[in-house]
Amino acid sequence: MILLDGKETAKQVRTELRTEVDALAGKYGRKPGLAVILVGEDPASQVYVRNKERACEDCGIESIPHRLTSASQMELEGLINELNRDVRVDGILMQLPLPEGLDSQKCLDLIDPDKDVDGFHPVNVGKMSLGLPGFRPCTPAGVINLLKRYDLDPACKKAVVIGRSNIVGKPLAMMLSQSGPCANATVTLCHSRTADLAAECREADFIFAAVGLPKFVTGDMVKEGAVVVDVGINRTDEGLVGDVDFDSVKEKAAAVTPVPGGVGPMTIAQLMVNTVEAFKLHVGA
Ligand code: NDP
Repeated sequence: MILLDGKETAKQVRTELRTEVDALAGKYGRKPGLAVILVGEDPASQVYVRNKERACEDCGIESIPHRLTSASQMELEGLINELNRDVRVDGILMQLPLPEGLDSQKCLDLIDPDKDVDGFHPVNVGKMSLGLPGFRPCTPAGVINLLKRYDLDPACKKAVVIGRSNIVGKPLAMMLSQSGPCANATVTLCHSRTADLAAECREADFIFAAVGLPKFVTGDMVKEGAVVVDVGINRTDEGLVGDVDFDSVKEKAAAVTPVPGGVGPMTIAQLMVNTVEAFKLHVGA
């Protein structure tokens, strides 16, 4: 069984980016800039934001923090408009979820699509569905990058994606089923209304779990030799646990991602990749 080491792979991605960013900064006279908006005091969001800022530092990207203990919808929209105009800012990341009372979709819609490094703006979602260049959401793009780095090509294979959220399951299913490198899979998108999820999984050469339920995918649901990617991050009494029951699944699978140290670090690395892409777009590199 191969352990798909997202932590180590993300480190490689960041090192490669650092070299590229140093060269770009030398040529264009400024570093790529990522504005990070955090509203409220959700502890998990604070950890994510800190990790993203650290990754920026590693890659030579300037992180431009906006930590607000609270904000009205109007204030937040004002800040986004300001960041849209700021030429130092190549990417805008608004950490989700926003505190209750704030309309996240309305805020996301306001972000300049060319600065939408999270890939959540409807323009980028539309581009993705058409297979056009544009920013792809970081978690699914990070998953695909991890597969690429391990030479695990889902082309012509059966893939099951569990979960149909707009940030993970749906875009991942779309990206896997499109043509192009590390894609061309035959994808089944499963959710809470899927009639026989275990049977769907047992058919799959690749399983992607983005459910939000600890240890949901068990060994008996996995075909011998399958590749299992665990997107889940669940905070339990045992600590951080994925959506995959690692111990039983590792007995059947050819490759599995651990939690932590799998998809999580790849998501952050992808945010850095997207920010550098945004910079290149803005400077015309
Ligand atoms: P959502 O809660 O938005 O979506 C969960 C999906 O799972 C839904 O589509 C839901 O179906 C489906 N689901 C729930 N219960 C079942 C069930 N019993 N059987 C089949 N499907 C079910 O979650 P997210 O997509 O935002 O996140 C999923 C997981 O990934 C979470 O643990 C989250 O913390 C983690 N995550 C990790 C990231 C990373 O960087 N590693 C980034 C983002 C998320 P339905 O639509 O029918 O309700």
